[in-house]
Amino acid sequence: MTYDYLVAGSGFAGAVLAERLASQLGKRCLVVDRRDHIGGNAYDELDRAGVLIHRYGPHYFRTNSQRVIDYLSAFTEWRPEAYRILSWTDGEYWPFPINLNTFEKFIGRSSTPEEMRETLERWREPIDNPANSEEVIVSQVGRPLYEKFFKNYTLKQWQRDPSELDPSVCGRIPLRFDRDDRYLSERFQALPKDGYTPMFHRMLQQPGIDLVLERDYREVAAEVEYDKLIYTGPIDAYFGFCEGELPYRTLRFEPETLQREFFQPTVQVNYPNDFAFTRIVEMKHITGQNLPVTTIVREFPEAYAAGREPYYPVPCPASKAIYEKYAARARAEPDVHFVGRLARYRYYNMDQVVAMALKEFDKIAAAG
Ligand SMILES: Cc1cc2nc3c(=O)[nH]c(=O)nc-3n(C[C@H](O)[C@H](O)[C@H](O)COP(=O)(O)OP(=O)(O)OC[C@H]3O[C@@H](n4cnc5c(N)ncnc54)[C@H](O)[C@@H]3O)c2cc1C
Repeated sequence: MTYDYLVAGSGFAGAVLAERLASQLGKRCLVVDRRDHIGGNAYDELDRAGVLIHRYGPHYFRTNSQRVIDYLSAFTEWRPEAYRILSWTDGEYWPFPINLNTFEKFIGRSSTPEEMRETLERWREPIDNPANSEEVIVSQVGRPLYEKFFKNYTLKQWQRDPSELDPSVCGRIPLRFDRDDRYLSERFQALPKDGYTPMFHRMLQQPGIDLVLERDYREVAAEVEYDKLIYTGPIDAYFGFCEGELPYRTLRFEPETLQREFFQPTVQVNYPNDFAFTRIVEMKHITGQNLPVTTIVREFPEAYAAGREPYYPVPCPASKAIYEKYAARARAEPDVHFVGRLARYRYYNMDQVVAMALKEFDKIAAAG
């Protein structure tokens, strides 16, 4: 069989590109994934108790991009949701990310946005251009709040002190002076109405797309003819680790089904200072399922080793230097498109990966 494109990976990057190339340009695409399912890390499924869970950790969809909303809406309806999380520390639940409610609880009395601003202005350390994640947070809220909510969570998650990590790691978390207690700030926050996996099925059902699961793309590449490759796996693996291995963090998920309707007050509770896990997630809060049982998932960050899932690129100066060498090699491969989170070695949210794939499609379409 001859294909125009071999697509390595069926996550957002691979699925969007295969769908666009097949439906808009009439290209024949073969999508290959080494896992036994489509959807990449966004894959969701019913567990044995019938509870809808996200196998690879909670995936909260959000975006400010109308193009991304319009594109995905052709494959799914949405269930609007304001994701709310809490932080468990000193034996109590705390509103998180930090907002006026958190500040009031911290000082032990009611307050105002003005007082919160003035106080943080006094607590914060004056650092004009924060160079790492510790500096980002202490320059916004000062050391006491940094130590209560950020320091140990980040250490657990990355096994590195925040001072060794890029500002982007902790800088992603909003700080609010009002009572907006949503986890995220984007204007569109919603989940695919009947789950991510059915949405991916609809995308990949286009005429012109074939799918092979549980195979490495390299084995399949040796068996079929194709013109170009869309590669969405780890960039260091593509080049046979010739510039050295890029560092990743991996996760262990420990699910538990409980014979009760709910376990915790919100979809996610962070544990910065207690236990080996970073968070407990209870998806039922946001999927709208009406069941007498619930499933919670404890999430344990672990060291990455060959054979495990490379969940998080580690954003630090040393990894950036290695990545740049691979990126230069990638630029010298005209028939390969490196797209997605692992191929670009950067923490991108789902909507950013969809936007990146649409942009790559524009380039391919414009080149004719
Ligand atoms: C724990 C966790 C929580 C997250 N939470 C959120 C969130 O709340 N909101 C959000 O917007 N984003 C979230 N993300 C990010 C989100 O998962 C990514 O943005 C998105 O999945 C990236 O899509 P992708 O296609 O680039 O990569 P992936 O989803 O990783 O897909 C890559 C696919 O390529 C396949 N592959 C790799 N190598 C090969 C090979 N050699 N042969 C064949 N197949 C191969 C893999 O099996 C995989 O299926 C989270 C990520 C993690 C890890």
